[in-house]
Amino acid sequence: MLTARTKTGKKLCLGYDYRKETLLDLRNKEEFICPICGESVLLKLGDQRIFHFAHKRGSNCRDNFENESYEHIEGKRQLFQWLNKQKIPSVLEFYDREIQQRPDIMFKHKGKKYALEYQCSTLSEKVFIKRTKTYIENNYTPLWIISSSHIRQKKKITIALSNFHYLFLRSTTSGNLYIPAYCPEEHLFQLVESITPFSIKNALVEHSYYSLHNIELDELLEPEKKFQFNLSSWNKEIEKFILNWSLHPQSSKKIFLHEIYNRGLNLFLLPPEIGLPVFHSLLIQTPSIIWQTYLFLDVLASKSPNDLITFQEINFHFNKRIRRNDIILRNLPQLEQLNPILAQIEYLQTLEQLGILIRKGDTAFQMKRKIMIPRSNREREEAKLFFYKKNNNILVKK
Ligand SMILES: [Zn+2]
Repeated sequence: MLTARTKTGKKLCLGYDYRKETLLDLRNKEEFICPICGESVLLKLGDQRIFHFAHKRGSNCRDNFENESYEHIEGKRQLFQWLNKQKIPSVLEFYDREIQQRPDIMFKHKGKKYALEYQCSTLSEKVFIKRTKTYIENNYTPLWIISSSHIRQKKKITIALSNFHYLFLRSTTSGNLYIPAYCPEEHLFQLVESITPFSIKNALVEHSYYSLHNIELDELLEPEKKFQFNLSSWNKEIEKFILNWSLHPQSSKKIFLHEIYNRGLNLFLLPPEIGLPVFHSLLIQTPSIIWQTYLFLDVLASKSPNDLITFQEINFHFNKRIRRNDIILRNLPQLEQLNPILAQIEYLQTLEQLGILIRKGDTAFQMKRKIMIPRSNREREEAKLFFYKKNNNILVKK
């Protein structure tokens, strides 16, 4: 840890740059105390590691700093100095006794109180969610930043994102969704933006990089980049996904395959209107192609032209699928205010733009024409080619 108190109650924060001689001198004169547990701590001034405080062996401190990696100490120190440079009131390792939580940095900005957590080690989903909830309930805006070492790029625009990664997802005030990452070695922020998952673990994304010296806090909190989306990559990944599924059928997928088979559908003969990208699809863990197939089976398939499709109906079937675990939602503790039904509505809006539905008032659509199910692979290929040629503009603009 980087903060301790002296016996007389003075705080010493090693987030500021001190000369070694000054600290050696202080160490000879003072005794240092952990601000959380009150035990005395040692000031370590080695040449290998960053200057820091350490509990004595066998300490019972509830906040076990001793597992802190070099990356974590150095990362939070850099972020603290970055905020200080911008004259943003910040406290390193701020301990909130009331909630018994200690964000890496607490700072105040534009009337809001932030709890910045720079996370290098993995943390259980349960602990992450509980901490975030406590922050929000106590008027903190959580700002979780993941270590860049956890972000592994597969290809230029595809990335594997686990449930752990999605916990870091946050929103700008305008509704842009992104995951902030930081690398202390390169002094580099990395923002993972335009996240469009095509399977549970894989997503199309855009990466933006900002040197710590060139970015201000507001740009980190409110990145302005427009949502970008690559339709041909999406298409390729969806085709690969379908193929993969048929080659490696797992029991959880078998239920889905069985159901669509019973309804006269086949994974290889899904129409091009099923499996489309929508902005909020990342709120749902179940791949788009599956929940859109369910929506088709539950609601759209039975409708004839002029029939109404109400939001209530959509909601009812969506919730039923969630209860049966056919559809799984993502845990997004920083985005609790977002309702995953948004993704379903956006899909219907896309179908409206494609000329399949017509909007009727605030809470309903009307069927204009039915979605045609291809009867052969050849028919599907032709339908798909035609569909993407004709609707390219609609699908790219999201
Ligand atoms: Zn302690």
